[in-house]
Amino acid sequence: MSSSDGNLHVALLPSSGTGHLLPYLRLAASLIHHQWSLTLITTHPIVSSAESQLISTFLSAFPQITQKKFHTIPLDPVAANITDPFQLQWETIRQSAHLLSPLISSSSPPLSFIITDVTLMSSVISVTAKLCLPNYILFTSSARMLSLFSCFPSIPSSIPKESLPPILLDSNSSFTKNFSDDSGSLKHFNGVLINSFEELEKEQLEMLASGNLTKGLPPVFPLGPFLPLEVERISLFAPLKWLENQEESSVVYVSFGSRTAMSKEQIRELGYGLVLSGRKFLWVVKSKVVDKEEEEGLDEILGHRLMKKIENNGLVVKEWVDQWQILSQKAVGGFISHCGWNSVVEAAWHGIPVLGWPQQGDQMINAEVIEAGGWGLCMKSWGWGSNHLVKGVEIGDKIKDLMGNQRMKMECARISEVAKQRSKAGEGCENMLKTLFQSLKKS
Ligand code: UDP
Ligand code: UDP
Repeated sequence: MSSSDGNLHVALLPSSGTGHLLPYLRLAASLIHHQWSLTLITTHPIVSSAESQLISTFLSAFPQITQKKFHTIPLDPVAANITDPFQLQWETIRQSAHLLSPLISSSSPPLSFIITDVTLMSSVISVTAKLCLPNYILFTSSARMLSLFSCFPSIPSSIPKESLPPILLDSNSSFTKNFSDDSGSLKHFNGVLINSFEELEKEQLEMLASGNLTKGLPPVFPLGPFLPLEVERISLFAPLKWLENQEESSVVYVSFGSRTAMSKEQIRELGYGLVLSGRKFLWVVKSKVVDKEEEEGLDEILGHRLMKKIENNGLVVKEWVDQWQILSQKAVGGFISHCGWNSVVEAAWHGIPVLGWPQQGDQMINAEVIEAGGWGLCMKSWGWGSNHLVKGVEIGDKIKDLMGNQRMKMECARISEVAKQRSKAGEGCENMLKTLFQSLKKS
């Protein structure tokens, strides 16, 4: 970009959950590259130690970024009727949003604009509008999800009603109320930044750009694919070492992201499914929503019989792994994923076919992006996470389908190639940021 925009000062306000934090940090790193001054607003207390460690490593690696600590007013989970700790934190931030005003006003040099997480939109826009501060959203999901979000409570004809998470079909839930309020506030924002790219979601991005879907939708800037940072690297070498000794495209990688815990019963069925598939596998087991502390040992979660069966076929871990590194190994030939959006984009970049097993939230809609692109499966018949027990035999059969499907492999290779070209040239992102800067000057 030109030197005329070199003096911008941008604040980033991520929400809670690693899947929301990571895209912020990845975006921040590319904005620094453009010589913009950055302030990262961090919310305290932080829910998981994974997030707090990530924030401190990030800030030590980028000392030029200013940290502003935002101390929220605690919320009683019982009164708020929210059990998920991450959703509770979203609500806490929302209800403390007025406290952002002095924090924003005291920024020096004055802020040029702020980038707000999608889960905080309607509460933060009222603060920034009063301060006449331009506000952009970083939408941490797919363009397909954005199309639903922009119309809600209407549902676009391209999205089956069954793909909406059950919580969104309950009009009395606070989640649905916030979702609706956030959707309604969309037109007051200056733009929507999204970790997607044309070849991944052509139709949806075109539909959003056409303005036919939603009146008053601000411009959408597809800046993806976002790439991981050096600070995200971790030194758990066992899985990588194990993968090095496996044949090309022979291993199924299984992970359900940073905040999805499965029931012990379902974990065991999945284990049997993996064994029955006859394929090698690398499986990250997660039975707690927040972090990994106080977790039972793998022996207790899986049981001795299953552990014995697994021994010769795969590697099971319960620690955080370096997903990006794992996906980049030649041995990995398939990915069983909950279809959190970061995982989807990472799988696309590496060209790994996905067996999509959505558990909650936007994940079914994200899995449909993969299915529509022809590079993976979306297991609708497996229902939503805890509502449904999927038996091992069925899981085993689907893994065979995934690993043996040549057409999906070819489609994947094609998407991976364009994704890599995009990130190599940085052109998509560069041009988009230029357009964003121009739209800012007009506002
Ligand atoms: N991730 C990782 N190691 C793990 C689990 C997750 O590196 O053991 C990363 C993964 O690569 C992705 C992010 O954490 O970038 C999870 O985000 P996603 O949107 O896929 O799912 P969420 O955790 O938000 O449900
Ligand atoms: N969302 C929102 N406002 C809220 C909560 C959620 O707009 O207050 C949207 C947002 O697009 C988010 C999606 O709902 O990505 C799904 O929420 P989920 O609980 O699955 O969180 P995520 O998977 O994004 O971490």
